[in-house]
Amino acid sequence: MANVLIDEHPVAKESKLQLDALIIGAGFSGLYQLHLLRDKLHLKAAVVEAGAGVGGTWYWNRYPGARCDSESHTYCYYFSDEILNEWRWSERYPGQAEILSYLNFCADKLHLRRDIYLDQRVKTAVWNEDTACWQIHCNSGFSIEAKYLVSAVGCLSSTNTPDFDGAQEFEGQIYHTGQWPHDGVDFHNKSVAIIGTGSTGIQAIPVIAEEAQQLTVLQRTPNYSVPARNAPLHPDFHSKFTKERNHVRAQMLSSRHGHPWTAPPRNLIETPENERTEILEEAWEIGGLRFRESFQDILFNEQSNKIMSDFIRSKIFEIVGNQDTAKKLLPSDHPFATKRPPIDTNYFETYNRKNVHLVDVRENPISKLNKHGLVLEDGTKIEADIIVFATGFDAMSGALLNMDIIGKKGLRLCDAWREGPKTYLGVGVAHFPNLFIVTGPGSPSVLTNMPRSIEQNVNWISDLLQFAESNKIRSVEVLEEAMLQWTEHVNTVASNTLLPKANHSWYLGANIPGKPRVFMPYAGGLDVYSARCEAIAKNGYKGFQMIRDAGMS
Ligand code: NAP
Repeated sequence: MANVLIDEHPVAKESKLQLDALIIGAGFSGLYQLHLLRDKLHLKAAVVEAGAGVGGTWYWNRYPGARCDSESHTYCYYFSDEILNEWRWSERYPGQAEILSYLNFCADKLHLRRDIYLDQRVKTAVWNEDTACWQIHCNSGFSIEAKYLVSAVGCLSSTNTPDFDGAQEFEGQIYHTGQWPHDGVDFHNKSVAIIGTGSTGIQAIPVIAEEAQQLTVLQRTPNYSVPARNAPLHPDFHSKFTKERNHVRAQMLSSRHGHPWTAPPRNLIETPENERTEILEEAWEIGGLRFRESFQDILFNEQSNKIMSDFIRSKIFEIVGNQDTAKKLLPSDHPFATKRPPIDTNYFETYNRKNVHLVDVRENPISKLNKHGLVLEDGTKIEADIIVFATGFDAMSGALLNMDIIGKKGLRLCDAWREGPKTYLGVGVAHFPNLFIVTGPGSPSVLTNMPRSIEQNVNWISDLLQFAESNKIRSVEVLEEAMLQWTEHVNTVASNTLLPKANHSWYLGANIPGKPRVFMPYAGGLDVYSARCEAIAKNGYKGFQMIRDAGMS
C-alpha cells in the first residue's frame, strides 16, 4: 500500500472564500464529488460539513446496532480499483464504525481533508444573477462565493423528533438515534423506553435489550423484518471478490436497485404453493434484502405480496413465544416492502426476553412526557431513565429545505416545493441555476444501494459541469417544462407499483406533520434511470438551458 499523507482540515476564515464549486456535506456523495471536481475537472472546489468529521450518515448515526443493509463489498466506492484493492471488510454487512473508518480512509487516500471545512452548517445560499454565483453563508459566519453549488446533504439527515408536551420536565436523558453521543450511552441498570420500530429501532432494540435492565418498546406501526444473517466474512472473501468484482459491478449497474442480484423471471402468484414455500424458506435462511427479490412481482401484484407478507407474519408467530405479543407485532397496514424493509439480527427473538415489554401506541398514543417518563392518552405511565427516539427523518427534502436556498428573482426553494419537491432527474430545479443535488427527490436514491446511485449522480453532474466549463457556459438551468414532466413521470411510475400503498411511509413524506404527500424517490429502477440520464447527456443535456457569457447557446 502506498504511503498516505494525512492532510489537515482547513480553518474557516472570516474573509469570503472564492470558489468554482462548493459542495455541502462530507458523506459518500460529497467526498466523491470533491474528488471529481477538484482532481479530474481541476476546479477550485471545497466542501462544507456540519459535523466535526467526515462520514455523513455514518458520522451521526452511532446508535447501538447501527449497520448497513447492503452487503459490505457492494456498499463502497467502485470508481477506484486502488481503494477496492486495499480496503478489506470484516463482516457480511458493515457496521457503523467500520463504514466511518472506510470513509475516513478514502478521505485520506484522496487527500480530500485539505478542502473540507468542518463544523460549518449552511444557513443560506442565495443566487446572484449579476455575478452568476451562489453566495453561501454558514452559521459560524463563514461565507463562500461559488459558481456552482452541489448539495450532497443526503436523503436521511434531518432528524424527526416528535414534539411531545412535557419534554422539558423529563428528568432522565433523551437521545435521538440520528444524533447519537460519540462516547456512547450507558444502559446498565437503566430502564429504557424506545419510540419507533423502523429500520433503526429494529436494529437498536436487540442491542439495547442486552444491556438495559428493562426495555419498553413503544410501537405505533408493526413492521416486517427479515433476518440479516450477518456473519464475519471468510478470510478468502477478498481475493475471491477481487476476481469477480467486474461482474459484481456489472450486475449492480444493470439492476433496478443497485445490488448485485436481480429477481429471477418468475412470479410468485404463478408458482405452485409447495414450490414457492420452499423458495421462501430458502430465501429466509439466506436472509437480507435478497429475500424480497425471490420473485419479480412482489411490488406489482397485491396477491403475490400478500402471500409473502403472510409468510413473514407466520415467522413472527413461530419466533415470538408469547402469542399476545406476537399478535401485536404483526404488520397489517401496508404490504411488505412498500416501506423500506428492515433486516435484523434477533429482532423478533428479543421479545422473548423477560426484560423487554411491548406497548402498542397506535390505539393509545403517547400523550406527553413527565418527570419520570412517558404518559399515554389513557393515563398509563411508563417510567424510564432514558428515552430513545428512533423516530426517523424528514427524508429527502428536509435537509435541503433546512437551508434557506434562494434562486432567481428571490424564489425560495421552500416556496417552489410548497406542494412537494419538483426536480428534473432529482438533480436540478427550475429557477435555481448552477444548483445540483446528489440523489435528490425524483432520483432512485433510497430505493437503491446508495453508493451506486451516488456514483451515478456524481459522475453525471461532473460530466455536465465539464461540458459547461468547456463550452464557457455562465449558467446551467433546468427548464420548467422538463422539471414538471419528470415530476409527473416519477408519480406515474410509483403509482404503477404497490409502493404508495404504505400510507405512513417517509417515501411519501407522511411521517412529518404538514408535509405534502408526494412519492419522492424514482421507482423506475437505477438501470432505467441511468440510461435516461445518459441519453439526455448525449442529446446535449436536453431539458437544461445553458447561458453563455455573451448570450444563449
Ligand atoms: P422510520 O422508518 O421513519 O421509523 C420511525 C419510527 O418511529 C416508526 O416506527 C414510526 O411509527 C415511529 N414514530 C414516529 N413518530 C412517532 C410518534 N409520535 N409516536 C410513536 N411512534 C412514532 O425511521 P428509521 O427507523 O430511522 O429509518 C429511516 C430510514 O433510514 C430507513 O427506512 C432506512 O432507509 C434508513 N436506515 C437504514 C438502515 C440500514 O441500512 N440498515 C438502518 C437504519 C435506518 P410509524 O411507522 O407509525 O410512523
